[in-house]
Amino acid sequence: TDVLTQSQTQSWQQDDAEHHLHPFGDSGAIAREGARIMTRAKGVHIWDSTGKVYLDAFAGLWCVNLGYGREELVEAAARQMRELPYYNLFFKTATPPVVELAKALAEVAPSHINHTFFVGSGSEANDTVLRMVRRYWDLKGKPSRKTIIGRENGYHGSTVAGASLGGMKPMHAQGDLPIPGVAHIRQPYWFGEGGDMDPDEFGLVAARALEDKILELGPENVGAFIAEPIQGAGGIIIPPDTYWPEIQRIVHEYDLLLVVDEVICGFGRTGEWFGSDTFHLTPDFMPIAKGLSSGYLPIGGVMVADRVAEVFKAEGDDFNHGFTYSGHPVCAAVALENLRILRSERIIETVKTTTAPYLQSQLNTLADHPLVGEVRGIGMLGAIELVEDKASRRRYAGNGRAGTLCRDFALEQGLILRATGDTMLMSPPLVIAPEEIDELVTKTRHALDLTL
Ligand code: PLP
Repeated sequence: TDVLTQSQTQSWQQDDAEHHLHPFGDSGAIAREGARIMTRAKGVHIWDSTGKVYLDAFAGLWCVNLGYGREELVEAAARQMRELPYYNLFFKTATPPVVELAKALAEVAPSHINHTFFVGSGSEANDTVLRMVRRYWDLKGKPSRKTIIGRENGYHGSTVAGASLGGMKPMHAQGDLPIPGVAHIRQPYWFGEGGDMDPDEFGLVAARALEDKILELGPENVGAFIAEPIQGAGGIIIPPDTYWPEIQRIVHEYDLLLVVDEVICGFGRTGEWFGSDTFHLTPDFMPIAKGLSSGYLPIGGVMVADRVAEVFKAEGDDFNHGFTYSGHPVCAAVALENLRILRSERIIETVKTTTAPYLQSQLNTLADHPLVGEVRGIGMLGAIELVEDKASRRRYAGNGRAGTLCRDFALEQGLILRATGDTMLMSPPLVIAPEEIDELVTKTRHALDLTL
């Protein structure tokens, strides 16, 4: 069987090399090295085609929150596919799973948010936000309020609008982005940019960059501010305590719409239903995706606050925006079942009271490692900053080489971590067990030792 496995793997790798272009990757390099072919998964573990098993400390891509192999989700999809796999009638109809999902979302969201516009992904959610912000201000008779302010190193997706709202320079560099009507301010990244300031002082400075930008652009031209509660792809950047209250003050003072991108934080990642609950935010829009279906099928949405939805309903006519798969009934049925499991098994409560405190306390044991400049985390998110010098927070030369090494050493031992530069990231399934957390931390320490 080993010979068979090997030749099957090689044949997949060859076909991959010849026919498949990879997202966010160098398809030429992947073709030369041979893609890793992942074949099956169960719980928090995933197997590749050679039979090697990995602990997936990244929950796929921050999404497989219930872990792999939940039969109820499979059954929900199969049932709905048999009943009604798709319908639309040019958007003037609804289907039972979509209606039930919209209602269930209103039940778990902050109380002022009771409507959802469905899309297929987080990127589509943020494209929709851009359209909705502009639509809102048109309906309010203030069409000049077009500009949306995002943040450097924020991530809001990969479509043209999503990548523009995000602040990833390598993405902007390809494709002449951002589009007009989008501006960016600095990020609240104390470890990387705080200098001599203490975190609270720096949090205020980073937040006041929003006020400066509004005044620079003219308040009459700015419609919204968009941010992740915690920057995910940017490096699990948890803002200092002073940051969000000051942002809320500024947003309120200049009457901006607040977009809180919950694509990663939503559905329990921070130990609450939403990052907005954790940081006491009152968003006007919440883009959601990923954990909405635990990644079993692609579905996202924009959750809309009552004060905005009421304007759309009272004053709007047709909103000229939507996707073939807006409110896909099979994806909605899976999301609905995912929410049912989250509630009936009290998964978010368990994260908050038990799993997250254990994960965070175990991760903190890595802080004494000579390579580690900071361990930070919240809920089921953890980041480890690799440094050459702990006291000055000085990085290793090589632009992320230490992070790449550490990630590859972890992979060799059967642990999937992500590296963003020299920041190691983890975001395991919410259902990870204590002994699996022990495995995660032991293997991480070993990878750090090998990197040193
Ligand atoms: N917003 C945030 C905060 C994300 O982390 C992501 C994806 O990682 C997106 C939006 C884009 O979602 P998608 O990849 O489903 O388009």
